[in-house]
This record gives sequence, C-alpha cells and structure tokens, in this order.
Amino acid sequence: MEAAAAINSPIILQVSNGGAAFFAGKSINNKEPKEQASIAGAVAMALHVRQMAKFYGIPVVLHSDHCAKKLLPWFDGMLAANEEYFEKNGEPLFSSHMLDLSEEVDEENISTCVSYLERMNKMKIWLEMEIGITGGEEDGVDNTGMDQNKLYTQPEQIWAVQQALGAVTPNFSIAAAFGNVHGVYKPGNVKLNPGILATHQEYVKEKLGADADERPCIFVFHGGSGSSEEDIATAVKAGVVKMNVDTDTQWTYWEGIRDFYKAKEGYLQTQIGNPDGEDKPNKKFYDPRVWIRKAEETMRERIKKACEDLGNVDTLSKEV
Ligand SMILES: [Zn+2]
Repeated sequence: MEAAAAINSPIILQVSNGGAAFFAGKSINNKEPKEQASIAGAVAMALHVRQMAKFYGIPVVLHSDHCAKKLLPWFDGMLAANEEYFEKNGEPLFSSHMLDLSEEVDEENISTCVSYLERMNKMKIWLEMEIGITGGEEDGVDNTGMDQNKLYTQPEQIWAVQQALGAVTPNFSIAAAFGNVHGVYKPGNVKLNPGILATHQEYVKEKLGADADERPCIFVFHGGSGSSEEDIATAVKAGVVKMNVDTDTQWTYWEGIRDFYKAKEGYLQTQIGNPDGEDKPNKKFYDPRVWIRKAEETMRERIKKACEDLGNVDTLSKEV
C-alpha cells in the first residue's frame, strides 16, 4: 500500500493459503477443523487491509491466491465470511478469489468454477481461474516435474472457459498457462511464451465475432518474478490485467535485512557494547521495527518497479 500510494495507483493485495495460515500464527492447528487457520488468517488480513487502506488513500483489490481441490474448505470458509460481511455491509469482504483446479480435467475444472462463480456473483465477487499449469514451486505446491505440454494452454481450452463462465457474468479472469513458472530460475530454464495469449485472444474474438480492437479475454500472469520487461509488455498487450510478483518481493524483503545486518554487524552481536564503546546499548539496532522497516523499504521499491513494468503509475489521475 505504501508503494501504491507513492505512485498514486491502485494495487491488488492477495493472500495465499500458506500466507493466511502464517498470518494467523504458525502454531495454530490448520488440519482440524480443516483450514481453520488459513480461513481466520485470510479474514484477519482482509479486515486489517480494510482498516488501514484509507490512510494510504488508494483503492485496494483484496484477493486470495491459488486454491486447489484439496483446499476447497479454505475457499468455502472465505466465501462464508464474504456472505456474513455482505449481509452487514452490502459488499463482500474480499473483492476477488482464485480457484486453481488446473490439475483436474478441464470439464471438472470449468464446471466447479461455474458453480462457485454463481454463488460469488450474488455479491459481485470476481473469480480468477487457472487453466494449464504454472510450473515451478510455491507455497508448498511443487510442479517442477510437470509434463512440459501442460505449461502451455490451447486456444480451445480458453474458449471453453470463456463460454461457460461468460454465461454467468463477465467478472472473471483466466490464469492461462504460457510457460510461466513460480520462482526464479537460471536463465534458459524457463521458456515463457506470452505470445500464446494473443493467439487465444484472436481465437476467442473470432468465435464471438467481436470487433478487431476488442480483447474479450481477461488474463492473469502468474510467476511474474524474474520475467523480462519485454515479456511483461507482450503479456499486457495480449490482455493481462494482473501479474503476481511473489518471489522477487520475498527476495527484496530479505535484501533489506541482509544489507542492514552487514552495515551494522558490530552493533548486532550483544545487547550492550558496540564499535562506539563497550557500554553502549544496541537496542535501536536490534529492535525488530528497525530491521523490518529496512525490509519494507527495499520491497516497496521492487513493487514500484513491477507497477512501472505493468504501466500502473499515476493511474489514479488518469482515470476517466
Ligand atoms: Zn501463481
């Protein structure tokens, strides 16, 4: 939110299943009842952001990340929280949720998405769905050994999604695989092909008989970390409206702490005694607020860079 405020632009904040459990507290049992910590943590995150966003003066889209079939109790818990919040406030707690049934066969993936979208649409909640698989490893899900063909979607798959979900509402987006992976790997190990999305867009446009300048599909870019500016630009041109940048923000968060430690090493070995004198206190160096703030500052700069790459700078003054 600090990064978004600095560039006068809206931002999407999302919580993953594992991130939500972490937000709740790692010691809370998340198995019985199923996903209770992830549900409570996601709700707490959403309430916290709602409480604080107004101080930054920017719109925030609240979203939840990948939810595979085995995590559906988490999704159900968040939807129940949305319904409760909607009852009281006339709007849902979250703006948007992701369902990721990309490991299931397409028919099951799409039909499950349709039935959830019907429930969500009553509260005008957006659905992000995944088809084709994002490679790599993230949040405890390891797709590193996946069949390479599954990392690239076919236009027929996108058309099937567009037809089925579009019959319910236009409020959905497609995380269509185009060789993207979670995490950052050595150059050459990832063959990103954002051009696939433009092909999908053309195919769907033709099916719909849409105008040449229309982009009927709304795409999402997973595994944005480590991507070239050129690939990002191609993806945005093909209709990508959201990019996830997790690994690079994790890295920059750590970088801030690492650099602070290196710069202040002599002040961080004991509670009392540093290069300025053996009786000097070190509290102002080891206070977590000091070094966590350094992490926030380096992460904020990386988020600003991601927003620049995506064309999300000074967006609030451009709004029509
Ligand atoms: Zn993802």
